[in-house]
Formats: sequence, C-alpha cells, structure tokens
Amino acid sequence: MTANATVLEKNFSALRARIRGLEREAGRAAGSVQVVAVSKLHPAGAVRRLAALGQRAFGENYFQEGLDKQAQLAGLALEWHFIGHVQGNKTRGVAENFSWVDSVDKIKTARRLSAQRPAGLPPLNVCLQVNVDDEQSKFGAAVGEVDALAHAVAELPRLNLRGLMAIPKLQHDPALQRRGFATLRRILERLCRSGLPLDTLSMGMTFDLAAAIAEGATQVRIGTALFGPRPNPMQK
Ligand SMILES: *Cc1c(COP(=O)(O)O)cnc(C)c1O
Repeated sequence: MTANATVLEKNFSALRARIRGLEREAGRAAGSVQVVAVSKLHPAGAVRRLAALGQRAFGENYFQEGLDKQAQLAGLALEWHFIGHVQGNKTRGVAENFSWVDSVDKIKTARRLSAQRPAGLPPLNVCLQVNVDDEQSKFGAAVGEVDALAHAVAELPRLNLRGLMAIPKLQHDPALQRRGFATLRRILERLCRSGLPLDTLSMGMTFDLAAAIAEGATQVRIGTALFGPRPNPMQK
C-alpha cells in the first residue's frame, strides 16, 4: 500500500540522509546522486506530497498511467522520466510528454523519438539501457552493441544522449551487485574517452542503491523506499 503523508515524509528524509552517507563513504560530493522517484502504480496524490517536500524528478514505466498522472498534476513543475520499455506505437506520446527516456535500447526507437520530439521543447534527454548480464529475457542493448548504438544516437538532432542505464540481475551479495554496476560504469568511461560528452549513470533501485552509489551512479531510481510497497496492479 502506498505510504501515508507522515510515512512519505519520513521515507523522504531517511532516503536523503542515507544517500548523503553513501556519497560520503564513496568519497563523492554531496548532491552528486540525483533521485528519480519511481511512482508507477502509486496515486498522483503521493506524487504531489513528495513534490511538496522538494522532489522534482519522477519516473513512470507505463505510458498511459504516466500520462494520466501528469494530467492530474499539471500545475506542478516536475521532471518526468519514462523508464519502461518504449513500445513502437508509444514513441510519439513519450516524445511529447516526457523530459527523459532512461530506457532506449534500439536505434529505431531513438530515430522515432528524435523525429517526433516537438520543435517547441528542448531535446529529449536519453539514456541507453544496457543488458549488462546479457540475459536472454531482458530488455536493453547487448554489451557488444552499445558503442555503435551510442554513436548513432548521439547524431540524432532532437535527442540529448546523457548516458547509460541498467537493471542488473538480482543479486543478494553486495560484491556481486557491484559487478554489474561496474560493467556499466566502464562502458560509460569508454564512451566518454571516445568523445561522447556523457554525464549520467542511471543505476540502483531500493534494493541495491548502496552498491550503485559506490560504483558511481549519478541517478538512482527509487520506488519502494519512498512510496512503500506497490499496490497490486489488479486492484488499481
Ligand atoms: C520499478 C522500477 C524501479 C524502482 O524499483 P524499487 O525497487 O521500488 O525502488 C526502478 N527502475 C525501474 C526501471 C523500475 O521499473
């Protein structure tokens, strides 16, 4: 169930304090890790409460749900991230209504998003999703394809390629959690050396944010630690 107002406030300050501590432990500057609050399956009212506490970036996985929530919160200056799989028939809506897409994994999707980004809006910020464990069942570009994809996406006029995103295989051992994140960081470093001006490593969720921050995450995508457990979608 989505947390009530008091719990949301507690969760928000606890998360902030935890991230400050992890930044310090990793020898990183305070504020170098941005939180994208993942509001999927939580109501617009909870987003409004977090926004009142100062949270600005929100992530949604499902296009129609995200759009409905944006409509309910139209007066607020929020930064919306699309973090789910981008279906071919949703690229126009995503290009028109989001500031970021964290989960681009195909050149075809990138071309459509660029072509469909409205002229009156700034270029769409994008991260490439990388399948760091090369798992059959996962979305994301294969590790061996990322360099070519990144250089092709960087050429698209209405996209601003910002970096990489990954959801590594679920691991309980922190050392193994770090391994997947380190793979993503090394790919980003390689792309930077090859001339791409990338500044974003979107990695780490509630469960593994400590390992992600230790490996250089600049953006963590946090749902449960802020909003509480997600309501069952069948009861929505
Ligand atoms: C749901 C989701 C999250 C947030 O997960 P939590 O474990 O609730 O923090 C982050 N990233 C993506 C891509 C998600 O789908």
